[in-house]
Amino acid sequence: MLILWTQLVFQKGAQETKKNAQASYKRLNPLHISRDAMIQIDKDAFMGMKSLAEDNHPKEIVVLLRGNRSGDVFHITDYLIPPFGFGSRRSASFPAYMLPIDFSILGTAHSHPSGNLRPSTGDMHNFYGRLMMILGPPYSMNNVAAYTKQGKVIPVKVLSD
Ligand SMILES: [Zn+2]
Repeated sequence: MLILWTQLVFQKGAQETKKNAQASYKRLNPLHISRDAMIQIDKDAFMGMKSLAEDNHPKEIVVLLRGNRSGDVFHITDYLIPPFGFGSRRSASFPAYMLPIDFSILGTAHSHPSGNLRPSTGDMHNFYGRLMMILGPPYSMNNVAAYTKQGKVIPVKVLSD
């Protein structure tokens, strides 16, 4: 598939300026996340993650985010507790090889009981999926941050019912 996109961009690029070709590539490449990207999360899903994080505080929790993507909007509809996931006071992780191949998994969310919403170096090295969400105490919608694999911040909006 990647070869096909590249060929398509190459053919188009021959007629367009380099800048246009880059724009085409970004438009055609489903892995690209634009700077207008945003995350919308269903309230039920958010409230579930919130209580999980609260219940386990001061230990970290980690969940897989499920949903769909429409253009620049990542819509999170539910979350999964990863098989064999575990949390401690310092980190939360799960063995990625135990996961099913599920293309509805958009990324992960984990808690930082310290309240620091920045990803750690370890977080960035263990990035799974497209998105990484971090929740900090008191685990309200104002204490959530999300990042791309490149470390870019993506705004998060919790949808009301
Ligand atoms: Zn972390």
